[in-house]
Amino acid sequence: MSVCDTRGMSADPKSVKVHKTEGTGMEIEWKDGHRSAYTFPWLRDACPCALCIEEREKEGRKPGDPLKAIAGALPMFKALARPTEAEAVGKYAIRFTWNDGHQHGIYSWEYLRENCTCPECKMKRDAAAVAQGEAVDEGEGKPN
Ligand SMILES: [Zn+2]
Ligand SMILES: [Zn+2]
Repeated sequence: MSVCDTRGMSADPKSVKVHKTEGTGMEIEWKDGHRSAYTFPWLRDACPCALCIEEREKEGRKPGDPLKAIAGALPMFKALARPTEAEAVGKYAIRFTWNDGHQHGIYSWEYLRENCTCPECKMKRDAAAVAQGEAVDEGEGKPN
């Protein structure tokens, strides 16, 4: 047994709130009592479709990591990601249609639970990554 074993965790939401109008994000309360909150930009950057996964892998980003600014490139204006639609996919997932037109990501509850953004779960994931001998790429924390 290890801390990265997520199979024992509940990936069944008790309640899901999508604050579409307020634009603040999505909140999930899980059946085991854990609560997760995701901002819309995070969700957009964690899109689990094949295209987005490929892009993230190319750049070494984790789900939810924002695009890396290219050195020397002009910062492009990007409207803050917001869903125009949110719909349940069966009992296992939710799908968003984003204000930039992207709509292929199906976010399974399991995926969302695995990538919970609360400090507690983040810490567990980092600890698991270290245990697996992966370099934890924080991109910050090193004083210049
Ligand atoms: Zn995508
Ligand atoms: Zn959590």
